[in-house]
Amino acid sequence: MSYGNPIKSAARRRALELQLVRYDPHVACINGHMSERYTKHDTCIQCLTEWRQKHKNELGDLSNQWQKRNRAHMREYHRQWREKNAERWQELMEKSAAQRRKNKQKKNANLINNTNKEN
Ligand SMILES: [Zn+2]
Repeated sequence: MSYGNPIKSAARRRALELQLVRYDPHVACINGHMSERYTKHDTCIQCLTEWRQKHKNELGDLSNQWQKRNRAHMREYHRQWREKNAERWQELMEKSAAQRRKNKQKKNANLINNTNKEN
């Protein structure tokens, strides 16, 4: 995988001008994909997808570590958001409580149905 290709093709220069996130280089990448690339660092999207899949477990761990490190930060962030958006927060809480009630009823209904089927 190559990041930050210093050579800018005409297609990429144009994409940069148009501030596109991705562009079609019309040439195969180093691994032979005829895939779109991210304009910013000229990374083949197919390569990136495959790399991500290959390293999914490690990336998952990294993301967990990040979350752990940032938990305090996120908590603070949410607290401030709730203070700033007290009404919206109340609204969201009521909505999710209603949703939970609905799900619970659904679950119970399913349980009853399943029990009837088993008997
Ligand atoms: Zn590729």
